[in-house]
Amino acid sequence: MGSRRNFLEKLTISTISIPILYSPTKLFAASTAPYEGPILRVAIMGLGSYGTRVAKAMESCKRAKLVGLISGTPSKVVKWRAKYDIPEKNCYNYDNFDNIKDNPDIDAVYVITPNALHKEQTIRVAKAGKHVICEKPMGINAKEGQEMVDTCKAANVKLLVGYRMHYEPKTVEVIKMRKAGEFGKLKFFQGLSGFTIGDPTQWRLNKELSGGGAMMDIGIYSINGARYMLGEEPIWVTAQETKTDPIKFKEGVDETIQFQMGFPSGAVASCLSTYAMSHLDRFFLNGEKGFVEMRPSTGYGPIKGRTHKGELTQPHITHQTLQMDGMAQLIFEEVQPIVPVDGEEGVKDLKIIDAIYKAAKTGEKVSL
Ligand code: NDP
Repeated sequence: MGSRRNFLEKLTISTISIPILYSPTKLFAASTAPYEGPILRVAIMGLGSYGTRVAKAMESCKRAKLVGLISGTPSKVVKWRAKYDIPEKNCYNYDNFDNIKDNPDIDAVYVITPNALHKEQTIRVAKAGKHVICEKPMGINAKEGQEMVDTCKAANVKLLVGYRMHYEPKTVEVIKMRKAGEFGKLKFFQGLSGFTIGDPTQWRLNKELSGGGAMMDIGIYSINGARYMLGEEPIWVTAQETKTDPIKFKEGVDETIQFQMGFPSGAVASCLSTYAMSHLDRFFLNGEKGFVEMRPSTGYGPIKGRTHKGELTQPHITHQTLQMDGMAQLIFEEVQPIVPVDGEEGVKDLKIIDAIYKAAKTGEKVSL
């Protein structure tokens, strides 16, 4: 009882102090109230492993609903249509999805395909007049990302990137603490992001489809995390690559990269991105007055963490449910999450990835 009361008290304070920000805990507390506002009607493009997870999470959304499918695999469409009660007129393939422009029953397309396909698919969706939610990495380099941003702006549609951690309650709490100065002057961030990748024939290990290796897929969490944990943009990077299996990890597909980033305040980040180690999912932030340690820090959760003040106790809510409800609120009401999820945010990460690849190749310190 006591802890629930504390939770509700904290909730009231956070709601009052930041009224225009999306609050994941507020949504959680209010989840029994009937919702009568607009519903974001979403088509998922790419019915793979993560698309399946997003669709399941959307079953619990109040503000977003899966209403359409774009897929190259007719047998999946049959199964998904039955499962989610999706009309045939809302189903497309990769050849004909430009016709979505004539479909008034779809508001947005969530692109969940291999990385190197995101740019072209996003641009086609934008030109069809629909909002785009695109998975990370939004493209395979910053130039692509910028082109996506510019095209969506010209088409007057929103471009959002699937940064689910920006809606995760413990992460949001840590960012609020950092903004309130609770850690003091920040000095150091460590991000460790990796897993052991299996099947050597999968698209993640094919540069044509992935655009790179572990950095594109999982290292990006440490890059994005360093930025939201420290609250600054890096001004330089250095990087070192290690490859223990050149057959599995071919030219242009990074297995392991250690990288460092320097920030204007003098804070530094030291990070590891890898496809060759398991259970690697840890953030550590240190300041003059306190620290945060999160492990796991970016997996599907529950996220666990503690600060110099004790355990983080915010509830675990399926990340993609929060993300999709939050993105619906962003699209309809301009309610922003505590850290942006727009295309510009995606481009910032890609600029850093470009610089890390350059630093790893040349051995030089690369300025941003
Ligand atoms: P999968 O391989 O499981 O699914 C990708 C789907 O894309 C396929 O099932 C297929 O769907 C479609 N597709 C279209 N063209 C191709 C092609 N040439 N080769 C392979 N698949 C194709 O990948 P994931 O779902 O794991 O990853 C998809 C995206 O989501 C990536 O960008 C990844 O980085 C991101 N992701 C994000 C996560 C997060 O936590 N935010 C977690 C995991 C992934 P269909 O048969 O319907 O056409």
